Amino acid sequence: MFKEIKNKLKAETIVAGDEGYDEARTIYNGMIDKRPGVIVACKSAEEVADAVRVAREHRIEVSIRSGGHNGAGLALVDDGLVIDLSGMKGIRIDPRKREAIIEPGNTLADVDAATHKHGLALPSGIIGTTGIGGITLGGGLGYLSRKGGLTIDNLLECEVVLASGEVVTANKDEHADLFWALRGGGGNFGVVTRFTFKLIPVSTVYAGPMFWPLGKAAEAMEFYDEVTREAPNDLYGFFAFLIVPPGDPFPEHLHNEKVCGVVWCYTGDLAEAESVFAPIRKFGPPILDFVGEMPMPAINSMFDALYPPGMQWYWRAHYIREFTQDFIRTNIEFGKTIPTVHSTTHLYPIDGKVHEVANTETAWSNRDARWAQVIVGVDPDPARAGVVTEWCKSYHEALKPFAMNGGAYVNFMMEEGDDRIRNSYGPNYQRLQEIKAKYDPDNFFHVNQNIKPGKPVASG
Ligand SMILES: Cc1cc2nc3c(=O)[nH]c(=O)nc-3n(C[C@H](O)[C@H](O)[C@H](O)COP(=O)(O)OP(=O)(O)OC[C@H]3O[C@@H](n4cnc5c(N)ncnc54)[C@H](O)[C@@H]3O)c2cc1C
Repeated sequence: MFKEIKNKLKAETIVAGDEGYDEARTIYNGMIDKRPGVIVACKSAEEVADAVRVAREHRIEVSIRSGGHNGAGLALVDDGLVIDLSGMKGIRIDPRKREAIIEPGNTLADVDAATHKHGLALPSGIIGTTGIGGITLGGGLGYLSRKGGLTIDNLLECEVVLASGEVVTANKDEHADLFWALRGGGGNFGVVTRFTFKLIPVSTVYAGPMFWPLGKAAEAMEFYDEVTREAPNDLYGFFAFLIVPPGDPFPEHLHNEKVCGVVWCYTGDLAEAESVFAPIRKFGPPILDFVGEMPMPAINSMFDALYPPGMQWYWRAHYIREFTQDFIRTNIEFGKTIPTVHSTTHLYPIDGKVHEVANTETAWSNRDARWAQVIVGVDPDPARAGVVTEWCKSYHEALKPFAMNGGAYVNFMMEEGDDRIRNSYGPNYQRLQEIKAKYDPDNFFHVNQNIKPGKPVASG
C-alpha cells in the first residue's frame, strides 16, 4: 500500500527498502526502533496539507517529526505516515522588531546561531540538538525561563495545517482558541509549519556548572533553594545529581565521582557578575567551578557532546513545589545510586517570568510549581537499557509523595497513560478537549501525549 501512496504525495518520500530508510527512521533515543510505512519529507505547508489529505483518504495513522528528540519516540509511528519537517530549515530574524520567523526543522543550535548574530536570544532548552517544533508546543524550559518565560510565552503566531488539510494562522486575534491550545498542548491540534517569536536581548552570559561533593548535598540543596528564591530574574540555575564524566575538561581526581551541582546562567550586568557569585562561591566551597563569561550559544550547547544522539534514553518527570527534608533525603538516596555516567536528575526552575503568566492564560497549567524535575536514565550500551530504566522508574516512584498533581511536563514524559496527561493539564484539560473537538474531532493527530476530543463547541 505504501508504495502506491508514495506516488500520490507531492513531497519526497521514503518507504521500506528505499535507500536512506533506516537513517530517516532513526531518532534521538536509541531505544526507539519503529518502522513507519512512509516518511514524507515535507518542505512547505502545502506539502504537509497534501500528506494530511492522503493519510486521511487511506485511513493511515500519522505522526509529526521536527527534531526527533521526543523521549517516547512520538515522532514516529509503526506502519503509518511520518510528516517529517526536519528539512524545513528557514529562519528569518528582524532585529529591529526583535522577532524571528522559524520553520520547525530547526534545532535550538540553529536558532541560537541565527539570533546570537543580532545580540538576541529565544528562551528555550539547554541542548542544541533539540527541535524547535516539539519543545515549543510542549512549553519550553531553559536557561532563560526566569528572565524571559517559557518558549511559548514568546510565541506570537503559528501557521498550522489542520486535520482537515486547511492551512490557518493562529495568533491572539485569529483562531485565538487554537493559539491558546498550541501553547503547551503539544502536537494535538495540527502541524505547525511556521513559528513567529519575539526575542530578548541576551548575548554574553556568565554561566557554567559548579559542583559540590555528595556529602554536602543536603546543605547544597537548601542553599540553592534559598539563593534562587530571592535572586533577581537574571540569575538562573538548575540543580542536578550526576556522575562527573571521565574525560576533558573535568579534572582527573573527580572522574566518575558522584556529585551534586548547579548549572548557572546569569544574564545581568557582567561587571557585577563576580560580586553576584561571591556568596555562592563561598558556600562549600565548590569542588569544581567552571562558571565564567561565554556567549549564550556556548552554554546552550555545553552538554551536546556529552549527549550525542543514539543513546538508550528513558526518563520520567514530576512537578515539585518545595524542597522538604524528606524530598532532599530521597534525592540524595537516589543520587548515590546513579547507575551510569550519563544518567542524572535535573530540577529545572519554574519561576521568575514564568510565574507572571496565569495558569489559564495558556494551555501550560503548572506555573505554580517551582521546579520541573526530570530523572534521566541514559547509557550508550543497549545492554544497560534495563538498568537505567529501572533506576529511573524506582526514583520516580519514590518521589511521588512530593510531586504536585500526578502530572508532569509533557515534553519529559514517556507513554504513561491518559491519567498522567489529564493531570498534567489540570484545570485546562476540559478546554483543551473542547478545542480538540473543534479542530480535530476524529483525533486524527493522536500519536502524541494525546488529548481526546471532548464536548464539541460551536465553530466560528
Ligand atoms: C537531550 C534532550 C534535551 C532536552 N532538553 C530540554 C530542555 O532543556 N527544555 C525543555 O523544555 N525540553 C527539553 N527536552 C524535551 C523536548 O522538549 C522534547 O523532547 C520535545 O518533544 C523535542 O522536540 P522535537 O521537535 O525535537 O521532537 P519530535 O520528536 O520531533 O516531536 C515530538 C512531538 O512534538 C510534536 N511536534 C513536533 N513538531 C511539531 C510541529 N511542527 N507541529 C505539530 N506537532 C509537532 C509531535 O506531537 C511530536 O510527536 C529535551 C529532550 C532531549 C532528548
